[in-house]
Amino acid sequence: MNITALPALALDGLLCRCPRCHSGPIFARGFTIREACVICGLLFESASGEATGGMGINIVITLLLVIIAAGIGGFNTAIPLPVFFAVMGAVTIIFPILFYKPSRSLWVGFLYLMGDHAEGD
Ligand SMILES: [Zn+2]
Repeated sequence: MNITALPALALDGLLCRCPRCHSGPIFARGFTIREACVICGLLFESASGEATGGMGINIVITLLLVIIAAGIGGFNTAIPLPVFFAVMGAVTIIFPILFYKPSRSLWVGFLYLMGDHAEGD
């Protein structure tokens, strides 16, 4: 594991780019992930079920965001409680949808870092 590659892999993941060539788009259109990179041929999710890793990243980051926002907004008495719950509910629903593609791409980068991109089912 090359620890110095982590910032580049994180940036590639957030920008939904291939972790090997740093330019190939991971998603074809919408939420459909490509089978392999169009530039370097890297398999993005070679085994079935690997999408769960990206979902795990999405859930953890969303929960951290909600806990931090609840910690900050929950102690602020100037915010009316219905507004607070409405905003928290909206963030809890909208953020995971917006973060879906980067979280899947971060998982692709993690698989690449671990060398788990070459084997299929
Ligand atoms: Zn590539």
